[in-house]
Amino acid sequence: MTFDASTPPGAFGAPLGNSTPVESRRPVFQKTLKTSIGCTGVGLHSGVRVAMKLHPAPANSGIVFKRVDLIGGGATIKASWDHVADSRMCTVLADNNGISVATVEHLMSAFYGMEIDNVVVELNGPEVPAMDGSAEPFIFLIECAGVVEQSAPRRALRILKPHSYANGNKMVALAPWHDGLRVDFQIDFHASAIGRQTCSFTVDPDTFRDELSRARTFGLLSDVTALREAGLARGGSLTNAIVVDGDRVLNDEGLRHDNEFVRHKALDAIGDLYLAGHPIIAHFTGRCSSHADTARLMRQVYADRSCWEMVDVWQEIPAVAPWVERTSRVAFA
Ligand SMILES: [Zn+2]
Repeated sequence: MTFDASTPPGAFGAPLGNSTPVESRRPVFQKTLKTSIGCTGVGLHSGVRVAMKLHPAPANSGIVFKRVDLIGGGATIKASWDHVADSRMCTVLADNNGISVATVEHLMSAFYGMEIDNVVVELNGPEVPAMDGSAEPFIFLIECAGVVEQSAPRRALRILKPHSYANGNKMVALAPWHDGLRVDFQIDFHASAIGRQTCSFTVDPDTFRDELSRARTFGLLSDVTALREAGLARGGSLTNAIVVDGDRVLNDEGLRHDNEFVRHKALDAIGDLYLAGHPIIAHFTGRCSSHADTARLMRQVYADRSCWEMVDVWQEIPAVAPWVERTSRVAFA
């Protein structure tokens, strides 16, 4: 997929030359779900059982969370970086009245990875269900519901200048990139079961599904008591998180990837970046960084209007040489 701010000459079919392959591209259109679909599960931090329904939504409406359990059932919160109210352990969105939805990042990451632009996410509780702690169950829901193209073209946010934010040993950065979103992540934990891990991915639906979506959230056994006293991780268990104690992974089934921990951090970052409301054309680097660092970087980037631009998204149509078509006609005459 390619991205371009300008209208391409001959985008819907360049003139045929005698020996020049036909090259063309077409605009990419926004996508939503074909039908509604739902699931139930427990919130990782609240421990509350929540029913979630994903509904198709009009073009240009974006991802919108709706708390149907509150009075009037109409509390809606757009998935946007300027609605981030808390990002200590997960990403929490809130509206001006303090109505919030927690742990949106894994679902947002699934939407980014599967290139879904517009969905209404209905919840009857305060948090997106954790499911198994990864984005895979949300991919399953999206694929079961089906995906439809809409009439409006897809737009992307292209980073024009490098921007970074450092906080002690943590660092996040966004830099210009030629095509799509490149994510590099590095973590370094004292717990030897995690240790130092790195990963690098260019995000597209196949890569996301195969390499990132199954990576689960994780925590240190030594942190569990403190987290629960702070009202967090109340729904966390070995069924929805990897739990590490020093050099041991406590989950009987072990890990899904050797570097599942850093892959999950990349998954988190993709979900947080989608709070831009659009796909991002950039090279993202995260080093030991958290949701809060990504949120801070996003605010910095948005504050600098010279740092980004909105562009149309285009898709290459594979080139076909005219002689291939002529040969085919002879062969099948
Ligand atoms: Zn996560």
